[in-house]
Amino acid sequence: MSLFKHKACYRIFFFLFFGSISLFNPSSTFSVPFIDKETELAMGQQADKEVIAQFGLYGDKSLQLYVNEIGQKLVLNLSDKEFNKYFFKVVDSSEINAFALPGGYIYVTRGILATINSEAELAGILGHEIGHVTQHHGAKQVVRTIGAQILAIGAAIANPKNAGEWLVLSSQLFNQINLGYGREAELESDAHGLLSAYQAGYDPRSMVDFLRGLRQHEMMTGQSYHSFQATHPDTKERIIKTGSLSESIINRENKPVTKNRKEYLNRIRGMSFGGKKHRGDRKNYKKKFIDIYEVQPGDTFKSIAVKELGDEREDLTIAVLNGKRLEDSLKPGELLKLVRPGSYQTDTILEIRPDIDRTQ
Ligand SMILES: [Zn+2]
Repeated sequence: MSLFKHKACYRIFFFLFFGSISLFNPSSTFSVPFIDKETELAMGQQADKEVIAQFGLYGDKSLQLYVNEIGQKLVLNLSDKEFNKYFFKVVDSSEINAFALPGGYIYVTRGILATINSEAELAGILGHEIGHVTQHHGAKQVVRTIGAQILAIGAAIANPKNAGEWLVLSSQLFNQINLGYGREAELESDAHGLLSAYQAGYDPRSMVDFLRGLRQHEMMTGQSYHSFQATHPDTKERIIKTGSLSESIINRENKPVTKNRKEYLNRIRGMSFGGKKHRGDRKNYKKKFIDIYEVQPGDTFKSIAVKELGDEREDLTIAVLNGKRLEDSLKPGELLKLVRPGSYQTDTILEIRPDIDRTQ
């Protein structure tokens, strides 16, 4: 699963491959048969192609490299990597989601990148997904659900002659990703994300910031993501648990930590916002993008909404998008995300000065 809420993205897979069968039994506690890593890797490689076919990669190379760079930084600190290589990819979906496949394939949507406000939050999310990979949550759930016999063909799962088996397996895998791995696994991955982010020098409290933002999003959109999944920990519970864990870490050690808010916001400047959820989404969305605004002396959310967006009612949207409350005061020089219509225009006009007389 994903850190969050796997609702819509994977419904596509769900219906495509799985119809409405759900054998998921979160209360089952029987031991998990051994799955070799080669099989997990083959599952991941195969499913990765499907993810990319379904969503497409977001077409900003520097943003892809940046997310990968943060992910690899976290992998470097792992005491047991479990897999040799990890892949971090930004998929072109407006859904707020992040998910992992067995074998080290990790994805974030541009939707989730637009929601968060710092590199430290990104590190927490990637760390959470790495936790699912190193704990083999995906493969374990598949085995719990459909039994180990399907995995008897092992890494040959990628062979076209095993297409039928693969179809059953992938549908189950995506179903699990969609539902989450259950309360304990999610809380365990939250802790993993927070600790890995901290080890890499990030403020562990950013994980709490992220979950708070998620909670606010849930309340504003009226979507209660976990309603279909009783074992998925309520976001409130996750906020409390990650809150106390991060405070105890901060109080115990005196290590300097960073959030890298400015760095992060500059990286996502120009990223497209909203719009299509997956490749097959044919709705006619208006183009929008994330712009970065530098707070001026005397600015309030209302004045920025009027001045920059021409609508004072946008003040709350701006505050929420930036993980703030309307009553929060703004500091000159701080950066804020704004959603603007259209596409981002980079500064392509070079200043070409008339050739000066170089002979002098
Ligand atoms: Zn998760």
